[in-house]
Amino acid sequence: MSVHLNEQQLAEWLLGSADAAVAGHIELCSACRHEADSLERQLALFRDSVHAAATRDEFAWMRQRAAIAQALRPSPSFTSLRWALAGSLCAALLATVMITQAPEPAALAPVHTSAADAADDALLLQIQSDLARPVPAALQPAQVIANERSARLQASAGGLGGNPVRSNRANHED
Ligand SMILES: [Zn+2]
Repeated sequence: MSVHLNEQQLAEWLLGSADAAVAGHIELCSACRHEADSLERQLALFRDSVHAAATRDEFAWMRQRAAIAQALRPSPSFTSLRWALAGSLCAALLATVMITQAPEPAALAPVHTSAADAADDALLLQIQSDLARPVPAALQPAQVIANERSARLQASAGGLGGNPVRSNRANHED
């Protein structure tokens, strides 16, 4: 074999499927043996790069699966925060119900726990009685004068025989 091996024959030799003539040529021809070694190194580099890419892809997929699982699983802190928020909402709702359903302040029996509380209760009772009074305490003398005036007017009207307007109209009708 005078000519050197072509790429197909070199590939067959690398795959171990070359015939005896090709194997014999590589053993004798340093140029073809060098070519075969170079081709073998390139194939090895290609195989390593493919293996690295496959490994990197697998690792990337593992990280992707872990990230998805982490995103789908609620964190304990978020869960506790949600329960705390629900608890505070329930407390606020309960407080609102208790405030709206609380009995009237007048119906509450005063509970004296100290002298200061007793004084506060007395002040509250005084304010309550002042508010319940139709005329403020400062205007009570004026109310007395108004009552006296209305009483005298009623007495004079009674002395004239009732309502003067009504009696006049009765006289006209007669
Ligand atoms: Zn050769």
